[in-house]
Amino acid sequence: MTAPTPAFAFDNSYARLPDHFFARQAPVAVPDPALVRLNEGLARRLGLDPAVLGSPEGVAMLAGNAVPDGAEPLAQAYAGHQFGGFVPQLGDGRALLLGEVVAPDGARFDLQLKGSGRTPFSRGGDGRAALGPVLREYVVSEAMAALGVPTTRALAAVTTGAPVYRETALPGAVLTRVASSHIRVGTFQYFAVRRDVAALQALADHTGARHYPQAEGALDLLRAACAAQARLVAQWMGLGFIHGVMNTDNAHVGGITIDYGPCAFMDGYHPDTVFSSIDQFGRYAYANQPQITVWNMGQFASTLLPLIDSDVNAAIEAATEVVHGFAESYQAEWLAVFRAKLGLTEAREGDAELIETLLARMAAQRADFTRVFRGLVDGSARAEFAEPEAYDAFARDWAARLAQEGRSLPGIAADLRAANPALIPRNHRVEEAIAAAVAGDFAPFHRLCDALARPYDDRPETCTLALPPRPEERVTATFCGT
Ligand code: AMP
Ligand code: MG
Repeated sequence: MTAPTPAFAFDNSYARLPDHFFARQAPVAVPDPALVRLNEGLARRLGLDPAVLGSPEGVAMLAGNAVPDGAEPLAQAYAGHQFGGFVPQLGDGRALLLGEVVAPDGARFDLQLKGSGRTPFSRGGDGRAALGPVLREYVVSEAMAALGVPTTRALAAVTTGAPVYRETALPGAVLTRVASSHIRVGTFQYFAVRRDVAALQALADHTGARHYPQAEGALDLLRAACAAQARLVAQWMGLGFIHGVMNTDNAHVGGITIDYGPCAFMDGYHPDTVFSSIDQFGRYAYANQPQITVWNMGQFASTLLPLIDSDVNAAIEAATEVVHGFAESYQAEWLAVFRAKLGLTEAREGDAELIETLLARMAAQRADFTRVFRGLVDGSARAEFAEPEAYDAFARDWAARLAQEGRSLPGIAADLRAANPALIPRNHRVEEAIAAAVAGDFAPFHRLCDALARPYDDRPETCTLALPPRPEERVTATFCGT
């Protein structure tokens, strides 16, 4: 009997868009594909058979050595503001969209290979990915999904058997990324800068159909994207997540987290925290993320102007009003996230101040973000403060506020646990897992992925992963690794 070829229910709507939206490109074969990890749960979600994906034929496909039936591999064109500077052409330089898989429930997902070789958008790059960044994206994006944050997913990681050359020779790898789409603000910018209104219209229609079927017209699309981004960034803030490279090519129009380069979760809380080694001025610091999102949405709005109204002034006025509405919707989302973290179910005057006061006290002492919130449930939050009186003062106000809605501990314990994870992918653990993997030991990587699949559980076998770094373990900088 011959081995089954992986069967996918492909329906490639992006490939049906006009030719100048992408470049058709086959993946470049690698010498020796080996599976590192397969996300079996996600495979099933997509209607794929994990056993088939894990077979030699499946792994060949995940490495780019075979193209499955029905795939139409292509590199997507996009532009983007990188650290505020506009680049009219970026595009998939080391990634290929294989196609869109329609899951058994009808949901549509992009299947993308990242690190699959050069494309017409590679510029000087080699089109490849090193093992470290691939594992980093795998572990962090899957953790985000388990934490309940909209995100791209990781279906598989394979090593290629070929080195990639960065500062040193590193093992090469390919990530299979799954996403509701890969439509970025930068995709719209690509056509806007070329004054290609017909393409903008086609892209807006495509985006509406995929992400916001209820939206009617470009202004509605903008409104929906702003709302989704406000919700997303509020969730990041509630987890101490710092994206690190919020360029417009990494701003997803569907409001999901994309591009796990130099991202990191904070240990000790401070609003100015930055990890990315290339973010010298803190443009993408934790506390700047909402403002940067407005800026990105402003860029999105400007690409849509010709679709909003043929009278440019009317278009600007309408779009501006929507973008200005971001602050209010973000504030509402942020309050909802942090109210839930404190076990509050009603909205009351003074809630923002209660939350801000706690955060300010945490910042003053660099208290561990995750452990303070998780520790509210059993009072262990107090021990996260070098000067616990600061916590005691908050705890009194918090108890009084809870009492206003007739709530108190331990009755709200389950709610608090559901809103405050025990586990996040701490930098030092991610780095440790990557270093071990690069040296040939994948066990810490698998252990970390397994633990992070259930971040809201207290489990004795994963409790060491919940600990903050010791001073000598602290990671202060992260790299995109491109
Ligand atoms: P990123 O920093 O991952 O958002 O990527 C920015 C741009 O650089 C995108 O157009 C990528 O496709 C491209 N790029 C990053 N790394 C490589 C690489 N190794 N080879 C070719 N293009 C790359
Ligand atoms: Mg990117």
